[in-house]
Amino acid sequence: FEEIQTVDSEIASAIRQEIDRQNSHIELIASENWVSKAVMAAMGSPLTNKYAEGYPGKRYYGGCECVDVVEELAKKRACELFGCEYVNVQPHSGAQANMAVFFAMLKPGDTVMGMNLAHGGHLSHGSPANFSGAYFNIVPYGVNDEGVIDYEEVRRIALEAKPKLIVAGASAYARIIDFKRFREIADEVGAYLMVDIAHIAGLVAAGVHPSPIPYAHVTTTTTHKTLRGPRGGMIMSSNEVAKQFNFNKAVFPGIQGGPLMHVIAAKAVCFKEALQPEYKVYQENIVKNAKALCAGLMNRGINIVSGGTDNHLMLVDLRGTGITGKAMEKLLDDANITCNKNAVPNDPESPFVTSGVRLGTAAVTSRGMNEQDMDKIAEAISLMVKSADNKAAAMAIVKELTDKYPLNA
Ligand code: PLP
Repeated sequence: FEEIQTVDSEIASAIRQEIDRQNSHIELIASENWVSKAVMAAMGSPLTNKYAEGYPGKRYYGGCECVDVVEELAKKRACELFGCEYVNVQPHSGAQANMAVFFAMLKPGDTVMGMNLAHGGHLSHGSPANFSGAYFNIVPYGVNDEGVIDYEEVRRIALEAKPKLIVAGASAYARIIDFKRFREIADEVGAYLMVDIAHIAGLVAAGVHPSPIPYAHVTTTTTHKTLRGPRGGMIMSSNEVAKQFNFNKAVFPGIQGGPLMHVIAAKAVCFKEALQPEYKVYQENIVKNAKALCAGLMNRGINIVSGGTDNHLMLVDLRGTGITGKAMEKLLDDANITCNKNAVPNDPESPFVTSGVRLGTAAVTSRGMNEQDMDKIAEAISLMVKSADNKAAAMAIVKELTDKYPLNA
């Protein structure tokens, strides 16, 4: 840090302020986490200096013998962690992992079924604003009035649309996803099944959420959400499917140039951490904390979409409170609680305003917080829902918790 300060005091100051922000705020953004010092150090290592286009043993540059070791270790550990035969650890992000799969499996104009963004899906699953929506014929599916995927409805849409690919997985869905059911529907209509486990990857790795690996033709993920690694993406499948669609070629040279070897090293470190027994306990605690936060909110009269959670996140339904998602995000931010506005199913508000907020417990659990702490956070949130005048009381709760669990960086 001193080196940054010497060379560039403006950036050093912004980083210092961000460290203070992370320390003094309660982080409830469901897609964020706190990586270990080892993961952080690997990301900041001299591996960032290296060009390594290609794959281990088949690079387009010299001097790759050390980074080959890194990429092989990352692959071996990822396969062990998720129980898959093939993995590509090079995608720079989750959206790029998805793009590579679309590039490998589809032709422009092909029909794809993905979960509606407004119902919890991700941009890269077919939003018109994304390449996936621009180049493919997207037929969306969603959740029912209870906020739960209706598999019979998914089947009905699939029988009608006859998609080439069905995408399962979401950014804001709090219930267990039935991957077996998705595969049955895909088989019935002759579609391939891609599952994007970006949000729940850590839970899947620890066996806390069922794995899609036995059912999906291909599984994509990010590595930085519940998985608790560096920002990045990954593609997993059987050797047979990987060969049939040549995912390696789709990633490089298909959509990317040189891999980020420092990030791949950090992915390898994260996978090693995830293979330790403590990791399972961590993932179980994320879910326990999510259930405790959910119960704490519902006990205080706050509505949750689908009436609860099975994973690391929940969607607060603010309809009827007179507060929009946008206003709630700002209110909580004023009390040093960070979250994001999120549409609820059949939201009457626009995507920029929304009627909900999404809350997740991966980061607060990494920080060491427990179920009693979640009840205190629920109290702070409830105080802010009741009145902005309760800001001092809410902030006192936040300060007590953030002082008790300081940032590990
Ligand atoms: N897939 C899902 C389900 C996500 O929730 C996200 C990110 O929020 C992504 C993909 C994209 O990941 P990234 O931001 O790394 O491109």
